[in-house]
Amino acid sequence: PVSADAPITFEELGLGPDSLKTLEKIGFETPSKIQAAFIPIALTGRDCSGQARTGTGKTAAFALPMLERLDLSKKGVHGIVLSPTRELSEQIANEFERLSDDRCKAACIVGGRSMDRQVKALKAGAQVVIGTPGRVIDLIGRGQLDLSKVEVAVLDEADRMLDIGFRPDIEKILRKCPSDRQTLLLSATMPNEVEGLAAKFMKNPERIDMSEDALVSTEMIEQFIITVDHDRKFDTLTRVLLQERPKQVIVFTRTKRGADTLGAKFMRKLKGVELIHGDLAQSKRDRVLREFRAGSVRMLIATDVVGRGIDISGVSHIINYDIPEFCDDYVHRIGRTGRLSSASKGRAITFVCRDQGDQLTNIEMRVNKLLEQYEVRGF
Ligand code: ADP
Ligand code: MG
Repeated sequence: PVSADAPITFEELGLGPDSLKTLEKIGFETPSKIQAAFIPIALTGRDCSGQARTGTGKTAAFALPMLERLDLSKKGVHGIVLSPTRELSEQIANEFERLSDDRCKAACIVGGRSMDRQVKALKAGAQVVIGTPGRVIDLIGRGQLDLSKVEVAVLDEADRMLDIGFRPDIEKILRKCPSDRQTLLLSATMPNEVEGLAAKFMKNPERIDMSEDALVSTEMIEQFIITVDHDRKFDTLTRVLLQERPKQVIVFTRTKRGADTLGAKFMRKLKGVELIHGDLAQSKRDRVLREFRAGSVRMLIATDVVGRGIDISGVSHIINYDIPEFCDDYVHRIGRTGRLSSASKGRAITFVCRDQGDQLTNIEMRVNKLLEQYEVRGF
């Protein structure tokens, strides 16, 4: 008899031989919890909404059943995935390519990129469109994108898309898809607005909530706070960096201007420091992320643009130079460390000013523990 807690396999989830072969090839050995719960339901064609923290493999949770269900011998756009940012869309497109072993033609339809190339990709027979709502609407409006054959529509990082204000665009796009399509929704959090969207556009969706798992997963991260006066933050950061000597660190600031200021201070003195936020040109954002992944950039100063979902693994340290305003952002930010694929514990250090006690309390309630004070030596 199989022991009850033996890990479930991808085969047991009902995936076909092509997917199983590819998964073996790319080294996915066992499904994550959200994958184990989501895939079998999505494979039946039912609408399904899944909640799980960042870095738990939500992309494969929707991509694998999608690849299984779409008839890839047929022409035309059968599937659409909407995601909040260009980076995420491109990352999903890459994961799609990897998971389909190039069996599926995907087009990435995002702003800040050549529209001609995207139109060409569509004309060349893209079967799945992955993109941000704005550009997708744009191409529909120009008559370049026809969603009338869509069988599966995915809303990835639904909470984030609604935060950004994509709700009207999402609604327009879903109305262009056939009403008998399957709709899948993935989100790290399920605030009321997301529930509302699901209620309006999904048919009796099965709900899968693996967010409790987040509590277990954040156990993998050593979390500290530093109480600090506003005017001592920079000095304290310098000391923390000297003390921790992080292999790779992301320093989160609340505003773009904050990131610029901090970036300027460090980049003058140190190599391997870069910054990323929404005002930077796409080419620059791409380059910075590439260099960070490759390891030549060791310190990334960022706003919450990269806090959500961007697949950066192996980050040893997260420093919240500005405490996040919302506790969900805290979970997203620290999710950049201690990920699925890495066994080592990450560290998250959050600066807390005296007037930010409420934010800290919210965070502590969210991760279900009191955060320990970090000792800065030599103070
Ligand atoms: P999420 O969307 O939940 O934030 P992703 O889909 O971006 O998470 O996955 C995070 C990382 O984990 C990616 O690098 C992905 O390739 C990897 N991954 C996903 N599922 C598995 C698995 N079953 N085994 C190993 N690695 C996985
Ligand atoms: Mg994701």
